[in-house]
Amino acid sequence: MKRIAVLTSGGDAPGMNAAIRAVTRTAISEGLEVFGVIKGYKGLIENKFQKLDLRDVGGIIERGGTILMTAREPRFLEREWREKAYENLRKNEIDGMVVIGGNGSYRGAYDFYNDFGFPVVGVPATIDNDISGSDYAIGFDTAVNNAVNAIDKIRDTASAFERVFIVEVMGRRAGFIALHVGIATGAEIVLIPEVEHPIEKLANDVIEAKKKGKKHVLIVVAEGVASGSSVGDILLKRLEPHGYTDIRVTVLGYIQRGGSPTATDRMMASRMGAEAVYALLRGEAGVMVVLSGKSIKTEPLDIAINKPKKIDKKLYDLAWKLSL
Ligand code: ADP
Repeated sequence: MKRIAVLTSGGDAPGMNAAIRAVTRTAISEGLEVFGVIKGYKGLIENKFQKLDLRDVGGIIERGGTILMTAREPRFLEREWREKAYENLRKNEIDGMVVIGGNGSYRGAYDFYNDFGFPVVGVPATIDNDISGSDYAIGFDTAVNNAVNAIDKIRDTASAFERVFIVEVMGRRAGFIALHVGIATGAEIVLIPEVEHPIEKLANDVIEAKKKGKKHVLIVVAEGVASGSSVGDILLKRLEPHGYTDIRVTVLGYIQRGGSPTATDRMMASRMGAEAVYALLRGEAGVMVVLSGKSIKTEPLDIAINKPKKIDKKLYDLAWKLSL
């Protein structure tokens, strides 16, 4: 192996830059040449390659977003366009590729590997942390911290006004962000898509919380359940007969993805990015870097493709237990 490509794809995640840096510097120190692909699979199809040297990845470890930019590229779902991408890689004499992204990007990487047997290694990067096979995906810690910081501020006014507050957090179809944010902010109620929570029960939970002497009720809702405002509307209808007149809803949105990555994300990105290069050098292909317990290692990509990541039921129970 002489020359590798690195790209970021799908939703951006804080720490992607740290991963690009780790891939580039590890590869160069191992005697490889590195090319960044601009805008993920779109750049692969459109032949947008840019050589990366040691200094090109300087001063980026602390920056959110991705210097290589990212894109959603529907053409990559079709084999003929993946073939175009493959031709471009061959033309540039590239013989291995690191794909930094989430589940969708992994599907693309998996198809690409199966089509052409081209050595591809995935690095998990998505704030949703929903990649099966890996305990961690880059960006999650920053997103959770961003949400926790925002909610701490919201809580100050919540207790001053003795209100019901709903905060909608990201996570796509998964509840990992909501669960961690819920526990870390001491939310009274956490709603995640993995566990059903009927509206009658929800209204009752609010009433019970007040009876227990709580000054305010904070409900963290994962976007995969429903929008915060629709939960708020339905809940208010149920609570009005009990004297509730309003519920405040906040949608945290993109602030969760923004800003400088936390130390944890920089560490993970550095370790995982380096491991991706070592995996290519070991001759591995069609694999992804994972965190398993405390170890960084590789697993076949199909683990991520074939089964959804499960929520830790113990954490969910803990969230409820601690909101007594
Ligand atoms: P993420 O990687 O953050 O989950 P997306 O789901 O948007 O983001 O996927 C990123 C890109 O990966 C898509 O725009 C597309 O180019 C590619 N992709 C997603 N699903 C597939 C698939 N089934 N086959 C091939 N490519 C795919």
